[in-house]
Amino acid sequence: EAPVDVAMEVEAKSQDTEVVTGPEESHEFKTETKRMLQIVANSMYSEKEIFVRELISNAADALEKLRHLQSSENIETGTPLQVRITLDHEKKTFTIQDSGVGMTLDELNQNLGTIASSGSKKFLEKLENEGSGSRENIIGQFGVGFYSTFMVGDTIKVYTKSALPGSKGYCWSTDGQGSYTVAEADNVAVGTKIVIELREDSKSFASQIEVDSIIKKYSNFVGFPIFLNGTEV
Ligand code: ADP
Ligand code: MG
Repeated sequence: EAPVDVAMEVEAKSQDTEVVTGPEESHEFKTETKRMLQIVANSMYSEKEIFVRELISNAADALEKLRHLQSSENIETGTPLQVRITLDHEKKTFTIQDSGVGMTLDELNQNLGTIASSGSKKFLEKLENEGSGSRENIIGQFGVGFYSTFMVGDTIKVYTKSALPGSKGYCWSTDGQGSYTVAEADNVAVGTKIVIELREDSKSFASQIEVDSIIKKYSNFVGFPIFLNGTEV
């Protein structure tokens, strides 16, 4: 039997092969989430590059959760624990995929449609107290986790499949305008893949040189390999 080329297999899985199969269910974001999105999307905060750090940190958390799960249960996903970032200069997309624990449908609705993270909660609290004047500082101070993607993109797609046996794949999608859709999807790898369509003012985040240096700047101590356009950083 021919040896399986793991690298090639992983690369193949990271291509855009997902297909939405189910009906798209539309959900309204909660009021506080809408507010959050609006603030982040219109922020003049200059260090937009931190979205890379936030996404890599979420990917690393998900990989760590899977590793933990695997230490007690027999869950084999067949994919090495890693983070893969792929840039498309022409399409102006930034894609990050992890082979971590993924999300069930409930987790997807819970985690991405609400202000779940501690950073985001503190951000909103602080905003109430201090008014809008120091908004930019507050974004930098707390980090706004997943929502930081809206500093650089309007349309965000999240493909995810939980590592729990028997899980289905899903596509979560939003244009950042107050609602999102969720649908079942085929060909989704276990873990999570986030595709950001970069805004015109943020298209530099589809540049390999730029993203390579951002990864090196913020994510030196991530305990999993990070690949950029197929090469380990
Ligand atoms: P935090 O990381 O502080 O919890 P985030 O806004 O960054 O807040 O993420 C919100 C939640 O979304 C996470 O707690 C996690 O449950 C879920 N999530 C985000 N990214 C991923 C991912 N790559 N894989 C699995 N779950 C994720
Ligand atoms: Mg986070």
